[in-house]
Amino acid sequence: MSNPLLQIFDTPFSTAPFSKIKNEHFKPAFIEAIKIAQEEIDTITGNTKVPTFENTLEALEFTGDKLDRISSIFFNLNSAETSDEIQKIAQEVSPMLTEFANDVRLNEQLYKRVQLMYDIKDELNLTTEQDTLLTNKYKSFVRNGANLNEVDKETLRTIDTQLSKLKLNFGENVLAETNAFELHIIDETQLKGLPDSTIEAAKMVAKQKDKKGWVFTLDYPSYVPFMTYASDRTLRKKMAIAFGAKAFQNNKHNNQQIVLDLVKLRHQRAHLLGYNSHAHFVLEERMAESTKNVTDFLGDLLVKATPAAKQEFETLSNFAKKDGIDQLEKWDSAYYSEKLKKKLFNLEEEQLKPYFKLENVLKGVFSVSNKLFDLKFEEVFNIEKYHEDVTTYKVTDTSGEYIAILYADFFPRKGKRNGAWMTSFKGQWQKDGENSRPHISIVCNFTKPTETKPSLLTFNEVTTLFHEFGHALHGMLANTIYPSLSGTNVHWDFVELPSQLLENWCYEKESLSLFAKHFETNEPIPMDFIEKIKSSANFLEGMQTLRQLSFGILDMNWHGKDPSEIENVKEFELLAFKNTQLFPDVAENCMSTSFSHIFQGGYSSGYYSYKWAEVLDADAFALFLEKGIFNKEIAQKFKATILSKGGTNNPMELYVNFRGKKPNNSALLKRAGLLK
Ligand SMILES: [Zn+2]
Repeated sequence: MSNPLLQIFDTPFSTAPFSKIKNEHFKPAFIEAIKIAQEEIDTITGNTKVPTFENTLEALEFTGDKLDRISSIFFNLNSAETSDEIQKIAQEVSPMLTEFANDVRLNEQLYKRVQLMYDIKDELNLTTEQDTLLTNKYKSFVRNGANLNEVDKETLRTIDTQLSKLKLNFGENVLAETNAFELHIIDETQLKGLPDSTIEAAKMVAKQKDKKGWVFTLDYPSYVPFMTYASDRTLRKKMAIAFGAKAFQNNKHNNQQIVLDLVKLRHQRAHLLGYNSHAHFVLEERMAESTKNVTDFLGDLLVKATPAAKQEFETLSNFAKKDGIDQLEKWDSAYYSEKLKKKLFNLEEEQLKPYFKLENVLKGVFSVSNKLFDLKFEEVFNIEKYHEDVTTYKVTDTSGEYIAILYADFFPRKGKRNGAWMTSFKGQWQKDGENSRPHISIVCNFTKPTETKPSLLTFNEVTTLFHEFGHALHGMLANTIYPSLSGTNVHWDFVELPSQLLENWCYEKESLSLFAKHFETNEPIPMDFIEKIKSSANFLEGMQTLRQLSFGILDMNWHGKDPSEIENVKEFELLAFKNTQLFPDVAENCMSTSFSHIFQGGYSSGYYSYKWAEVLDADAFALFLEKGIFNKEIAQKFKATILSKGGTNNPMELYVNFRGKKPNNSALLKRAGLLK
């Protein structure tokens, strides 16, 4: 029996042979690849020669390459082209992969060899990249308890099991509460203000539930338009309170105890490993480095954004007063913001869309990449695809040298998850004198073309494409030796720099004029549209900033210090929110009990990253604004110091190498119109 996943890919650029891969190939391939990886590790630990960097760290780094390749193909398909069958396989192989990863992390002999190298690190004469590799590998053992005694190791395992169970329960409760609520409307007059598409969608939901009229839910695609457009204030209030009360009601889905248990266990875990708090543990592996840096960072932005936020709140309140609203409440925020925005800018999404035909925008991002980084994109037809909607490109530099393969998968379909993301089918590394180039993919969910109309993007979709393309550049231009340090394998609060940086080219006349042309008349986008796009991007920026900061500050409060004294979730939250709230508090509501980012997902002590990344991209783009947005020298420097370097060095050092200084908040505040 030949399994194509286990053979060398005999394809152009050794791309994945999708036509030969059948679902039944995956599980046996995973089993075999794990076996091979385990044997490779046994070879390292069984080596009787004196441990060296080469026979230990480098050898370890290149173990499991087959397993990595199979995993990326499989999990990329599970995101972009899944089926019941693939999901079933995922459920079977995921525990196998976790078990293997745990076996490696808990491998005493392997750890001993790595530790030996780490202890004599300074004598090894390592390059920066080698040093980073050694430190990362060593830390991955230690941060999982390799240095603990047997009793503590057991405690750690118990905590980890409890934590994953609690996180799961947290998510299940939020989901149950989201699904438990619906707003059922029979009286058509209550739909006033809502756009046709929203009404249509609500009718569909009602139909699915076998109900007359319209049903609105707490899912974002239903909730957000309702809060933005529904004129009926009583109903907006009802929806908002239901949304904010998720997992905070007197029923079995209440998350208060889970929140308290989670933060206390996280603290205990961090303490066991020798850290002051969970945030200290997390931030050790972030560009921000310490809780103090994060707290200072958020505090500084708070001071600077508050006056603008208060002023905007007053403007919005006065605007709503004309409607007879005496006190602006949370459920009025989106509604009056939208109304005011329309009054001030009068720019409809539909007016912009004809200027953003997908093919034109794609050509635009290609030509921006060409002007900045000398890249050329040629569509090729000899590479296999996992779906006919996918297009494939060979990426070269201007001298013709092969850089990467790019897959682009733009349209929604059954089996593709929501949102947009960048991923890779093959990483980049150098070994035995060969530079193995990456296969990068961008996956989006844009409006499909019809028989009469091409795919016309909303402005938000345009920035999404540029965003994902920024990640793709980070992957395509990677040029490191070790795969685990290549491309987007960087600290969390650094990974959004290239993606958010590239978004800036969507707002500049010089770049928009390259591609924003009317799809029928070829007319360039009017100047006043560009002006409006720019100024409306900053609309109510102070209030938005305050909101983001409030979440970051709440996160740091939960995770930055000893939580053992905390008893009441709501009281604690109110205290943390003290300087960030413009709207009156709603007693029935609580943020923390449904704050999935930090209690279910991986953003604990990491919520600040959103603002952090904005500061970085604004600070970096300021240099382009100063020297010219297509300044080759600056672009080449960005490529040499950041895009090609991946995670081979401390991100602050990489950044300073590019910018000549550390980032500060002023470029962001200026761009956001918050510096008066
Ligand atoms: Zn991103």
